[in-house]
Amino acid sequence: MGKSVVSIVKNPVTPDAARIDEMVRQVVDQLGGMQSFVKPGDYVAIKGNFFAPYPPPVIVDRRVVYSFIKLIKEAGAGRIVLCEAVSVGTKLGRGTSTASILEEMGVRDAAIAAGAEVLCLEDDERVVVKIPDGKSIGEVNYPKTLYDCDVMFDLPCMKTHAMTLVTLGMKNFQGILDDAQKYYAHRDDFEQKIVDLFKIRKPDLTLIDGITAMEGNGAGEHGIPHPMNMLLASRDVVAVDAVTTACMGIEDVLWVGTTRIGQYDGIGVADLNEIDIIGPSIDEVKEKFLLPITYRQPQDRNLTGVHKNVDVRCGGACKQCWGLASTIARTLALFKNENYMLLVGSDPKVPNGITCDLDNVIVFGDCACSATGNVKEIRNRMLLEGKGLIAPGCPPYRPASAMLEEYLIKRGKVTREMLTAGNAKAVAKTYAYYKTVDPTWVPKSEQGKTDGE
Ligand code: SF4
Repeated sequence: MGKSVVSIVKNPVTPDAARIDEMVRQVVDQLGGMQSFVKPGDYVAIKGNFFAPYPPPVIVDRRVVYSFIKLIKEAGAGRIVLCEAVSVGTKLGRGTSTASILEEMGVRDAAIAAGAEVLCLEDDERVVVKIPDGKSIGEVNYPKTLYDCDVMFDLPCMKTHAMTLVTLGMKNFQGILDDAQKYYAHRDDFEQKIVDLFKIRKPDLTLIDGITAMEGNGAGEHGIPHPMNMLLASRDVVAVDAVTTACMGIEDVLWVGTTRIGQYDGIGVADLNEIDIIGPSIDEVKEKFLLPITYRQPQDRNLTGVHKNVDVRCGGACKQCWGLASTIARTLALFKNENYMLLVGSDPKVPNGITCDLDNVIVFGDCACSATGNVKEIRNRMLLEGKGLIAPGCPPYRPASAMLEEYLIKRGKVTREMLTAGNAKAVAKTYAYYKTVDPTWVPKSEQGKTDGE
């Protein structure tokens, strides 16, 4: 494979809308201009990243959306469709729809003002597409809009991710899958599944929004904003992911599974020596990002032998359950006066029985819910006596946390009001931050309100 080209534009300070407009134009111009991608009358689809109900850096900045669509329109596109679907976690847990996120964050208005239609992928038709060289997935219910369009663009943000280290151009395509396929291959085969999707079709251009990037425990509301004031773009999604990863201070870009396997399977170039950069060099722009806790220390450091009052028995769990169970364990650890037992994985060992009240046993995830031996006996006792918490799901995303909330409410540990207030506080924090980045932003829910309302 020949050299790939990645375009970078960096601003010294936080850019306003006018400067973002110039940056979007410049980052595309450095690759030959929008006319080299879009011909008059073309049908253009953009896969954005608006997976959860929080402003940037969780989602793409609406000003980038506006300027990018405006540029496509100027090139003469006949039809432009901005597409997205929320994550399973958002749908089940945060109780928000794609449409309401696009509306609340001002993305819908920005896209329409610039000349695009907005499509929630849940509403799109699906085309069954075979992937003969797929190694993890052999057939995909591909969104018809993205399948039929003349030109496909990928518009992610620059973020760390607790499960995949970073989420950039390739990981953004998890969002094109239907819910069942989002669940499918979610373990150590996840990155291969994502790479397989690019064997159907590669984006013609990937533009990464790094105006306000994210570090720490991303890619949702627990991540920390890290302003980078930059945009990156390339025809090669693997190359732009590799360069962005390097700009985030991650020395070995092959730590990112989609980048490593993407290069191995011929989707693009990850070798930085084989990538030409137009604009400032990686060394000129790179900053050290705080990695997610799952990549700062061995995974078991977060789960086993950590909390004095939470006895975790883990046997044959995958990294999804390692991560999710550590969150559950952290929550249980708050109730210091109680002892808990958390059983995780396909074969947790409990040779001498449980070490706490049966009501404080939590069987976590489908694997533990179907484990045999004395775990089965423990489950049977829990069911017979109506005690403890059996939390199925694979991965046990929101069903388990929702069940945990109910479990804690029932036992008087928290109230629903406390949980609601906690969520509202988290949302308010993200809103307050983004208003410092873009003082012109008014979320839909606050429009028409006066101070003090
Ligand atoms: S239940 Fe948990 S450990 Fe088992 S496969 Fe699913 S996510 Fe992995």
